[in-house]
Amino acid sequence: MANLTQHSFRCPSCGEIFTVNLPDVVNAAEGHEYKDIILSGELFLRECPHCSRRQVVSWPLAYIDTEGKHLVFLSDKQLSIDQTEGYTARLVDRAGDMIEKIKIFDYGLDDRAIELVKYVTKQDMNIPDASLKFVRMDGADSELVFTYPSKGQMEMIAIGFSVYEDCCAIIGRNPAISEASTGLVRIDEDWVASLLR
Ligand SMILES: [Zn+2]
Repeated sequence: MANLTQHSFRCPSCGEIFTVNLPDVVNAAEGHEYKDIILSGELFLRECPHCSRRQVVSWPLAYIDTEGKHLVFLSDKQLSIDQTEGYTARLVDRAGDMIEKIKIFDYGLDDRAIELVKYVTKQDMNIPDASLKFVRMDGADSELVFTYPSKGQMEMIAIGFSVYEDCCAIIGRNPAISEASTGLVRIDEDWVASLLR
């Protein structure tokens, strides 16, 4: 069982403060109770008891997968986790980013290559400002499925696995990329931009 801590949030709708008991650390190995509601987004979706408005809340949350050796920290505040050597450790700002990272790692994919795939795809499709999110790997060809908002609705796009493999090869050829992704780091579109500078 995860330890719960009381967190307070101010409702953006009515301005009242409400408290929720939430886990600070979710260990994937300890049952799927919390992992499932992280992935569904349910853990982050909370209803204000005063006005019933449902909203996404965020607090310092650490997700740890001791089998896959992955760590994802939500928020700037670094929670102390012992023995993280040999782990891929990522910092994310939003609940949706944490969900995406966990999905990427669960498929055994490299999130750095995924960010490069997004970059290449946005250039190819001439949608440089789109915010692509990895959703799943599909079919016998292992196509990578991404979504992005466009004109008020969610578009879906499938990218061939060979594009991902090409991006993995780029990372393999560039020690600077590995250097830029050690320790607890944010791997996102800004990270890709920093590589290209
Ligand atoms: Zn409210």
